Amino acid sequence: MRDVIIIGAGPAGLQAALTLGRMHRTALVVDSGEYRNGPVLHMHNVVANDGTPPAEFRATARAQLAAYETITLREGSVTAVSPADDGFAVRFADGTTEHAPRVLLATGMADDLPAVPGLAELWGLRAFTCPFCDGHEFAGRRVGVLGGGRAEHLVRMLRPIVGSLTVFDGGELDAQARSALEELGADVHSAPVTAVAAHDDGVRVSAGGEVDVGALFVTNGTTRQRAPFPEQLGLRMLPSGAIEIDEFGRTSLPGVSAAGDLAHRAAVPGIMAAVTIAAAAGQLAAAGIVQELAMA
Ligand SMILES: Cc1cc2nc3c(=O)[nH]c(=O)nc-3n(C[C@H](O)[C@H](O)[C@H](O)COP(=O)(O)OP(=O)(O)OC[C@H]3O[C@@H](n4cnc5c(N)ncnc54)[C@H](O)[C@@H]3O)c2cc1C
Repeated sequence: MRDVIIIGAGPAGLQAALTLGRMHRTALVVDSGEYRNGPVLHMHNVVANDGTPPAEFRATARAQLAAYETITLREGSVTAVSPADDGFAVRFADGTTEHAPRVLLATGMADDLPAVPGLAELWGLRAFTCPFCDGHEFAGRRVGVLGGGRAEHLVRMLRPIVGSLTVFDGGELDAQARSALEELGADVHSAPVTAVAAHDDGVRVSAGGEVDVGALFVTNGTTRQRAPFPEQLGLRMLPSGAIEIDEFGRTSLPGVSAAGDLAHRAAVPGIMAAVTIAAAAGQLAAAGIVQELAMA
């Protein structure tokens, strides 16, 4: 039986595997191929990898992991995790089951976009959510913000970077909130957004008339746990929808750790979705597991 089953092979799971491999601990790493940045062509704000395609980042990580013979990668989808006499039973979609005394959840979060025709096709390519990841590429251009509720925060973040900002609030905002945005220099379009589409090297937004922007930042989407394991295991959750962990990625259930977008400490205000932060969390969680195994 292996020391750990890591479910997820994004930055968090891959870094955790590297840390465990370097300490000659055995781990099975499972990957269903559903990555949060799956559609993204170039990731940013990742030191030494600014502009690297995420698929290349994962391929390099996997190639380097091949040097560690205690680490095994398995393509497949896990459907259930449950406590067992020897630790945990991890059930796969193909009907097989693996057991390990410890499980590290690194299954990430999934994005649910607002129901705007055309938006899903642009997601990660010309429609984004994170100004740290994708703002700089639109320096000096007109950029759109979709949704009113959290628009002011995004306008404040993007203002120093982009040329101009248009908020498509869909009529959500009252006169006071609209004029606050206008004072920050943003245009506000209150007609409902009925469609978005790629146009030249930007996005054409249909909202009453047509408005062309370089990119669209979505503020009215939601995120959810990609996998059902936190609920299956009854883990303590935070208001953000993430799993509560301690400094070393331990969850409320002994033997179960978590790392990446899906978990954070209660002291952190919310999910900090970023590749380096996920990788760091994977390293911390793996280091915690290694310490515990060493002292057992
Ligand atoms: C549009 C967009 C653009 C982004 N751009 C950037 C950027 O430029 N820079 C940056 O730093 N961050 C960026 N991010 C954030 C970044 O993608 C995440 O923070 C990061 O991917 C989180 O890593 P993770 O390992 O927690 O999860 P993920 O990368 O989402 O990996 C989850 C892993 O779990 C696996 N998995 C899930 N369910 C199962 C299951 N049931 N069975 C088996 N395996 C399973 C998946 O296959 C995958 O391997 C972006 C996010 C989005 C949405």
